Amino acid sequence: MDFDTIFQGQLDALKAEGNYRSFADLERRRGSFPTATNHCAGGTRDVTVWCSNDYLGMGQHPAVVQAMVDTVQSCGTGAGGTRNISGNTHHHLLLEAELADLHGKESALLFTSGYVSNWAALSTLGSRIPNAVILSDAGNHASMIEGIRHSRADKVLWKHNDWRDLDRKLYAVGDRPKIVAFESVYSMDGDVAPIREIVEVCEAHGALSYIDEVHAVGMYGPRGGGVTEREGLAHRISLIEGTLGKAFGVVGGYITGSASLCDFIRSFASGFIFTTALPPAVAAAATASIRHLKRSDAERMAQRDRVAHLRARLDRLGIPHLANESHIIPVMIGDPVKCRMISDILLNDWGIYVQPINYPTVPKGTERLRITPGPLHSDADIDRLVSALGTLWKHCALAHAVA
Ligand code: PMP
Repeated sequence: MDFDTIFQGQLDALKAEGNYRSFADLERRRGSFPTATNHCAGGTRDVTVWCSNDYLGMGQHPAVVQAMVDTVQSCGTGAGGTRNISGNTHHHLLLEAELADLHGKESALLFTSGYVSNWAALSTLGSRIPNAVILSDAGNHASMIEGIRHSRADKVLWKHNDWRDLDRKLYAVGDRPKIVAFESVYSMDGDVAPIREIVEVCEAHGALSYIDEVHAVGMYGPRGGGVTEREGLAHRISLIEGTLGKAFGVVGGYITGSASLCDFIRSFASGFIFTTALPPAVAAAATASIRHLKRSDAERMAQRDRVAHLRARLDRLGIPHLANESHIIPVMIGDPVKCRMISDILLNDWGIYVQPINYPTVPKGTERLRITPGPLHSDADIDRLVSALGTLWKHCALAHAVA
C-alpha cells in the first residue's frame, strides 16, 4: 500500500479548493503584545497579531508570568503523572476551587484543554446516563460534536440559537434523560445564545443544561464568570465548561457543576483519567489570571473600547462585518482563495497577521477574517489595519464577494 499517495492526494485536493492550512511561524514577545516576531523566508519581521484568542493579553500579565516562573522554580516542570497516579498537586486543587467559586458552583474539574473537557464530559454523560439523548445546537464546536459522537447516545440537532425549535424537539424526545448542549458566545460569528430562554426550556423539560463558555470566561460578567454570570443564570445551568487558554492566557480546560456531576465525570471520563495532569506551574498561572480578572475590570473595559473603535472605523469605510454583541469581529470575504490572498497580502505587505478562516471551520461561502481586538492594540495599530483593509477593498474589488 502506498500511503504517501493517499496522503498527498487528499492534501492536493485541499490545496485545489483553497482550504489547505498553513500556519504563520510566530514568536510572542512578552512586553510587546500584540506585536510578535514572524520568522519568514529571508529572516524575521515584526507583525501585529489581530487574531489572537489571548483576548485580554493575560499571557504576558506580570502576576501570571510570575506565578508560572515561581511555580516552575518551586515544583519543577511536569505534574509527574495523571491526576489519579501522583499528578494531583495542590496547585490543581487550588485552581479547581477558584473555578468553582468563579461560577458559583460546588465543584470544578480540570482537563488538559477546552477541547478535551468538552469531548470527555459529553462522551461520558452521553454514554453513562442510560438511554440519554443529547440535543445539540447546530452551531456547536467540533469538540462537542466529537464528544457526542463518541458517546454513541442518540443525537438531535436543533436550529442554531432557536429555543422554540429546541422546545419542540425536547417534546418529541419524550420521557428520556435529555442533555442540551450549546455555547454562549459562538467563536466564528461572535453571536450570543438566548441563554435565559434556553435555560427556561431546559427546566420545563427537566433537561440537563450544558453550556460552553470558552469564548466568554474572563470576558463577561463582573468577575469574568462569562455570559451566564452577567445574566445571573449560572446557578440555573447544570454544567459550565470553559478554557484557561483564551482570556485567561494560559492553557487547559474545565467543567464546573454540582459535586456529584463533577465526581461522576472525574470517575468515568477516560479523557480525564488516562492522561498526564497539567503542569503545576500552568495551574498556578491560571489561578493568578482568574484571581486578577475577578477583581479587575480594566482589561475588559479597554478591550471593549478597542472593539467599538475598530467597528466604528470599519463602518465608516464601508467594510462589512457581521453584527454581533461580542468581542469577535468577522470581516466576511466569502471565498477561500480570496480570503487566503488577503491574509497573505496583509502579512507580507503590511505586517498585519489575521489568519484566514476557511472551510471546515466555517461553512463554504462564508470564509472570513476573524478579528479580535485586544486592550493592547493602540490607535496606531487600528489606523494601520483599517488603512490596509481599505486599500485592499479598493484594489481587490472585494465588495461584490462579501456575504
Ligand atoms: N469550545 C469552543 C467553542 C472553542 O472555540 C474552542 C477552541 N477554539 C474549544 C472549545 C476548545 O478550547 P481549547 O482551545 O482550550 O482546547
